[in-house]
Amino acid sequence: MIPHVAIVGSGPSGFFAAEKLLCSHPSVHVDMYERLPVPFGLARFGVAPDHQKIKLVTQVFEKIASSSRFAFFGNVQIGRDVLVDELLDAYSAVIVATGASNGADLGIAGEELKGILHATQFVNWYNGHPDCADLEIDLTNTRSVAIVGQGNVACDVARILLSPIERLRMTDIASHALEQLSRSKVESIHIVGRRGPAQMKITPAELRELAAIDGCSISTDPSALTLNAESNLEILDPTSPQGKTYKLLSEAVSNGRLSNVEGKTLSFDFLRTPTRARGNQHIRALECKVNALRGAPFAQRAVPTSSTVEIPCDLLIRCVGYRGVEISGVPFDSDTGTIPHREGQVYGLEGNPVRGLYVTGWIKRGPTGIIGTNRVDSSETVMHVLNGLSTRIVSGEIRQQFIASLATRGVSAVSWEAWKTIDQYEKCRGSTSGKVREKITSIEELIRISSGYNDSERIIAEHNF
Ligand code: NAP
Repeated sequence: MIPHVAIVGSGPSGFFAAEKLLCSHPSVHVDMYERLPVPFGLARFGVAPDHQKIKLVTQVFEKIASSSRFAFFGNVQIGRDVLVDELLDAYSAVIVATGASNGADLGIAGEELKGILHATQFVNWYNGHPDCADLEIDLTNTRSVAIVGQGNVACDVARILLSPIERLRMTDIASHALEQLSRSKVESIHIVGRRGPAQMKITPAELRELAAIDGCSISTDPSALTLNAESNLEILDPTSPQGKTYKLLSEAVSNGRLSNVEGKTLSFDFLRTPTRARGNQHIRALECKVNALRGAPFAQRAVPTSSTVEIPCDLLIRCVGYRGVEISGVPFDSDTGTIPHREGQVYGLEGNPVRGLYVTGWIKRGPTGIIGTNRVDSSETVMHVLNGLSTRIVSGEIRQQFIASLATRGVSAVSWEAWKTIDQYEKCRGSTSGKVREKITSIEELIRISSGYNDSERIIAEHNF
């Protein structure tokens, strides 16, 4: 009997799991389910629009999808349109690869004020995610932005806000974001970290890119660059990421002091833990405790002192990590925002394995690593899936009946061919203004375009491409 495996989620972790399955087993079939009508998850909605080279990974995913043993079911949400138990009944194995799409809170007073966003919201907004297309972000009345967190997401957010608009114009950035950014009044950005420069998570390549932005000078309190003995040990190896980042930051700060650039400023505010968002309805300042660092090298932690500072800001973006979203019927650890598992085999909270159910990617290990990390991660999961297939095979007929039931319950799935129509449409639409693509940001519009996939010439003619 041919084994059929369902993968839930079409981001990098889902596609790498599909690739591993298709390469490792000569007859396995993969059905990929995605809640949106479009595939690629983080590669489409997370990677910054000025990082088009990273987005080329979607070409690898296209190749995986071209297998005759692969099928795509977009616009089908597991936990809402379909129960996970129904998938488990219809497939020999189910792999959850839904990523981590919620932003983490700071847990401070005033966090409900207007003008405070999660990184997920801001990133989804500029990347044209349907969930955030209508988000009201007014950069024409924003002069100072505080970004909390000093990882690569914070770096992406700062770079998009600071980049000359010409750098973004040809990308696949959403047109609503391009329009706001082109009228932006942002002149200063604070990237706020609770620890010091030796503990910053921004990687050297990303910091170098930030430091190279025209018309922007980088600053920090010079005393923050004087490290305590334990932090000094962390950067002692100049070839380590910490050593490189520290050197780059020191150089960027001294270049900033010399350059007299009249333009935007980017300040790295170290040793600051946010304690309160201040403002009347809308945020006006972020109050922070000043910290000292304690602990051994590589385990330095922030300890608050009695001092407090205020950072003025009209917009606060929390870039302090992501959390997975619970799927009805799937075990979930709400402390970590992940699905409990052992090497990818899902376990219930009471400690028993859930037969046939597996997990991969950020929803498995938390939001760490780069896109390629998911390839290694999926190998571990798929190894257990393949072992499990020897004892659990569901007949293809049951799968077929299940797929047929989608339409009868009013779920209109978007196929891979239908997605290709959307893809072609977006590229054509973008090319009229010199962009890589112009993403459709409305689910209804995406479905309307996908439904005419047999008639793409008519759609294109209709829109004068
Ligand atoms: P991250 O690298 O873990 O950085 C999170 C930052 O938030 C850290 O500075 C952390 O400080 C801080 N933080 C966490 N909780 C906090 C709190 N309660 N209060 C104050 N600060 C807090 O996470 P990320 O930036 O979200 O990135 C996620 C992953 O995606 C990373 O692996 C990243 O490299 C990757 N990514 C890569 C790229 C790229 O390659 N271009 C782009 C975007 C993302 P501590 O260090 O003190 O915990």
